[in-house]
This record gives sequence, C-alpha cells and structure tokens, in this order.
Amino acid sequence: MHVETISIGSELTSGATVDTNASWLARQLARLGLAVARHTTLPDSMGPLVTHLRTLSTNPARPALVIVTGGLGPTLDDITREAVADAFDAPLQENADCRQVIEEIFRKRGWNFAANNLRQALIPTGAEVLPNPRGTAPGFYLARDDVHVFCMPGVPLEMFGMFTEQVAPRLRQLTGGGTVILERVLHTFGLGESTVGETIAAHMERGRNPEVGTTVADGLVSVRVRARAATEAEALAMLDLEAQALAPLLGETHIGNDDDRLPQVVARLLAARHETLAVAESCTGGLLSKMITDVPGASAFFIEAAVTYADRAKTALLGVPADLIRQHGAVSEPVARAMAEGLRSTAGTTYALSTTGIAGPTGGTPTKPVGLVFIALAGPRGTTVAQLNLPGDRDRIRQRAALAALNLLRLELLKPE
Ligand code: ATP
Ligand code: MG
Repeated sequence: MHVETISIGSELTSGATVDTNASWLARQLARLGLAVARHTTLPDSMGPLVTHLRTLSTNPARPALVIVTGGLGPTLDDITREAVADAFDAPLQENADCRQVIEEIFRKRGWNFAANNLRQALIPTGAEVLPNPRGTAPGFYLARDDVHVFCMPGVPLEMFGMFTEQVAPRLRQLTGGGTVILERVLHTFGLGESTVGETIAAHMERGRNPEVGTTVADGLVSVRVRARAATEAEALAMLDLEAQALAPLLGETHIGNDDDRLPQVVARLLAARHETLAVAESCTGGLLSKMITDVPGASAFFIEAAVTYADRAKTALLGVPADLIRQHGAVSEPVARAMAEGLRSTAGTTYALSTTGIAGPTGGTPTKPVGLVFIALAGPRGTTVAQLNLPGDRDRIRQRAALAALNLLRLELLKPE
C-alpha cells in the first residue's frame, strides 16, 4: 500500500509549531506494517492543498492511503474538508448526527453557539464520520477508487485518540493484518557515527530484513534495527537475534537500548550495587547533577553536588590545594583529580565525579584551547582522570563533558569486582 501523510497548518509551515503528529503517525503506521512513502506539510491554504490532493487521486499507485491531520476546526482558515471535497468531487453535506453532537457539546458546556461551528458538521459526500469524543471537530474517512483518505483534527491528543480508536482498526481491515514492523535502538557512546557504521557495516546492507541504520542524537550514536514480519512474535524474535549479533561488535560502547540513556544506565548500576555518588562540577555548572537527578529515584544513590566555579570555591568546598591550582591551572589533570578525591572524602560516597574545562567561546589559550576538559572519577579502586578535546559550541562541550563523566563511571561499574 502506498502511504502518505499530510500535516495542515500555517503554524507548522512557519515553524511556530513543531509537527509532532507526523512522527507519531509514522511510528504508529509502521507498527501496522505501513511505511510512509512521503510526508507533506502544507499551510492553511486552499489552492496548494487541492493541488496536492489531486496528485494523490491521480497517482497510479494503488491502493493508496492518505492520512491528513489539521484544518478541521470551525474557523474559515480551516480548509481541509473543503479541499478534500473539491479534490475528490465529493461535495460537502451537513451531517445531522454531527450537528447534533456539536450542538450538544455547546449546550453541556454552556458555551455560546456561533453559527460557524456548524462548519464542523459538513462532511464530504460518501465519507464516513469518525467521532471525536475529545473535541468538537469530527474526522472523516473517504474511500475513492482504492484511495483511502482519513482526515483527523490537528490537536495532538484528539488525533491520537481518533487514530487509535477509529483509524487503526480500519487500517487493520484494509491491510488484512499483513505485516508488523518493530524497532529496537541500540545506543552507543564514545565513537563517531562513521566508526560505528564501519563496525557494523556487514549488517547495514540495503534491503536487508531486519534493516539496520545509524542515527545521532543528544551525544549518542544509535543503531536502529527494524524488523518486518508477519506476526509480532516473529518480528520480536528477529530483533532479539539481530541485537545479539550487534552487541558484541559494539562492545563496551553499547550503553543500552530504546529508552536507556547514560544517566538511567548509571542509576540502575549504582542502585543495584547499593553504592553512592557525589559530583563536583566546574565547567558543566550543574548539568551533570541535573542529568542524574532527572532520573526518578536518584535519591537512592545520589548524595550531593558542588558547583565550584571559582578557584577559591574549589579550595574551600573540595579542599583542592591553592598551590596545586596555581601550579597547574584550574583546568588540569591534577585539579580534576583533587576535586573528585576531595569531594569523595567529605561526602563519604562510594564514587565522586568531577569536571573542569574550558567551554568557551572565550577563555581558551594555545596550550589550553576551548574544548579542553578533564573529568575524574574517584572510587574505591583509586582515581581515573580522562582528558577530552571536545569540538563544538559551549552547549555541546558542556553536554559532552557531562556525558563523558557519566560514561567514565559506567565503565568503572561494569568492571568485574
Ligand atoms: P483541527 O484539526 O481540530 O481542525 P485546527 O487545525 O483547526 O485543528 P489549530 O488551532 O490549527 O486547529 O491547531 C490546534 C492545535 O493543534 C494547535 O496547538 C496546533 O499547533 C496543534 N497542531 C496542529 N497540527 C499539529 C501537528 N501536525 N503537530 C503538532 N501539533 C499540531
Ligand atoms: Mg490548523
């Protein structure tokens, strides 16, 4: 089946609102075995929408599925129903049931009834109404010459409900339950995307099932595995097998799957071992503590954090000798080490992490350029310090420094006892 989605709204084409409906729909459709061939975003404007819909009605790819969201509201700038009626020669007719439902909503809520609300009761001839218990605008389903058009409201919560309750069951019937597509994402930290790609090159051939690809987001390089099968159980088994083959190739860079992120993984490891953590932050300014405390249940292992930005704070709060800072500079291996060791001893934790670096854009020197960061981990087996030379702007340097610190701890926690 040829599948297209269309998001309608000038707030989407202008960039004021991010089109989250499209990505949500693509993922839901994938679970039904339907891969979106094309997605189009159009403004609230009659001409372009009618033109686009006409190309769909004349496209020889059949059967075709078109899922439209947005532009079903009561105001004149909502043009989806008119455009569908025009493009598919299905003139609008008032639907008595819809009219009743809309009048009833207004009566119940004690709202004034403006006549333009009745626009929402207009449905293209031959279309089936898709009720909207979460809002006023009903959706509709029009099938013409094996082109199946579903129109839903743009309001995400209304659309989610309508898709799940009204559209998905119809799609299952249309496709006869065909294929299931399931996904698993293996996240890695520490290598660039091209290196990860090379490592798993044999799995990334085009047209393979399961299909394997890489993506980069939030400092992680992720390997996405998509399996297509007749049943969910089969697709799951394929994912398991593929993940088992990929994991050894990724080795210790593989931090976890799907919803796992470095803070969650570290939290799980620490909680399981009943061990505790404190952090001393300079260049990350609290970001590392934020990442850790974003994890629900962090109080089980996270004891305290010190943001020691100035040299004297490093001395006063962490006991870093002033001489050490004078001799090596605040951004140095010995100071990172002393920060972690100092905090570990005052906080009395199993581990302490520290960060000190130059996040830029100013403050760099030829010997200590922007992006130079030292991270240290003090623990029962001694102290490890790593030097990072991070590319990018201030945000990226701070984010990478915090993630690298978490990863240093993760690797320590994975070592055999
Ligand atoms: P309806 O679909 O009920 O006709 P509408 O288009 O008339 O909705 P709008 O006011 O344009 O109503 O949109 C309602 C809300 O839904 C707005 O907050 C809008 O930004 C949001 N929205 C619309 N389309 C999308 C989308 N594709 N992704 C995310 N949010 C969206
Ligand atoms: Mg709109």
